[in-house]
Amino acid sequence: MKGTASFFQELRDYCESVALVDCHDHSGACGPKYTDAIAAIKSGYFNSDVLSASSDADIAILDDTSRSLDERWPILERAWKRTCHTGYAQVTRRVLKKFYDEDELTLEALERVQEKLLDLTDEAVYDGILEQAKIAVRLGDVWPDVKKIIDGTLKLTPRTRLVISLPGYHGIRGYDGVQGMVAPLGRTVTSLDEYLAACREIFEVQKKFGAVAFKDQSAYSRAIDYGNPTRAAAEEVFNWFMEDPRRNAGYPDQIRPLDDFLFHEFMRMARDMDLPVQIHTGHMAGVRNDIVKTNAAGLTKILELHRDVRFDIFHANWPYSADLLYLAKNFPNVTIDFCWANIIDPIYCQNMFKQALSCVPHGKIHGYGSDFGGSVDRAWAHAQIARDNIAIALSDMIDIGYLGLDDAKEVARGWLFENANAFFRLGL
Ligand SMILES: [Zn+2]
Repeated sequence: MKGTASFFQELRDYCESVALVDCHDHSGACGPKYTDAIAAIKSGYFNSDVLSASSDADIAILDDTSRSLDERWPILERAWKRTCHTGYAQVTRRVLKKFYDEDELTLEALERVQEKLLDLTDEAVYDGILEQAKIAVRLGDVWPDVKKIIDGTLKLTPRTRLVISLPGYHGIRGYDGVQGMVAPLGRTVTSLDEYLAACREIFEVQKKFGAVAFKDQSAYSRAIDYGNPTRAAAEEVFNWFMEDPRRNAGYPDQIRPLDDFLFHEFMRMARDMDLPVQIHTGHMAGVRNDIVKTNAAGLTKILELHRDVRFDIFHANWPYSADLLYLAKNFPNVTIDFCWANIIDPIYCQNMFKQALSCVPHGKIHGYGSDFGGSVDRAWAHAQIARDNIAIALSDMIDIGYLGLDDAKEVARGWLFENANAFFRLGL
């Protein structure tokens, strides 16, 4: 993408020179080794747009690698013609051009791609692409085997710092779930107090391993407007399912007092451990989910109560930009994180970057997070799009006389690198 403002190119070149903090990534291992050209261009987020433009039946055929490219191409072509202009499709186009030297998606192009598919399990190739994207460090939400953290054998992918995945710890519904969460400690818990102590121990060991934040994406499975129930209400649910391991608390009403209570307890632990909390808000991966329950505005009571916890609110709250701009402007403990959003909707981000500059302290913006698992080819494309979006937004603001080029460069550097480096105390 190109801006039309006078200083676009100079600012874009500057953005290219700035290293990135990748504020959110899911790569537990280097990979994949692509074996199918259609999977190489379609899997990941773009699959959702292809499905949105076709059907479950079409996706089943496209994913059936026992069928030839020839046989599957008419279905992909039909969907591509309906969805080739989304942000996700921009990622596909850029991957095609950069890694396979193809300008257009055609059957012939796919056949050529098939002959030179990337092998991202090769750590040198993987890290080489991160180097080309100038991704200095990544915050990895990788759902690790906690036992490996305890015994020190967990290996992270290149340039990755761990974040602590929270949802499983407060989403417990039954005895087996509880014991599963604490299993790495090699003990059985029998009460809410013992469970809380075990969770704290597990979080502490991850911090000691190098974790730089907590991450919660419960918005996929519940509304994020947490209530503030009493310990007694939570303990009643906990004790009810613990006294009979065959019981499971029902979603959503029965489980809620315990889930909400634990979330508050974990916010207190985050405060005590001095780790920021990243929270998923807005759009959800895949198709068919309820967006209303994910609006960051639902977090207001949490943000207002836990003033000593630093919250990094994800995905620019797409499509509720106004609500997140409000929260970041009004709560000293809230930052905006554009991870994933830059490819969900590039134009939304360009507009929101401009609006954020004019209403939110610019030191509270984190501009990039790849949000892929593996697939550094796509993380590279995503980094390009994020730099485009920021350069377009800020050069437009220079053109209307809002700020000068030097100031715009400083803001861009903050959004791509400095703000996240300071916020997560990465010490880069
Ligand atoms: Zn994510």
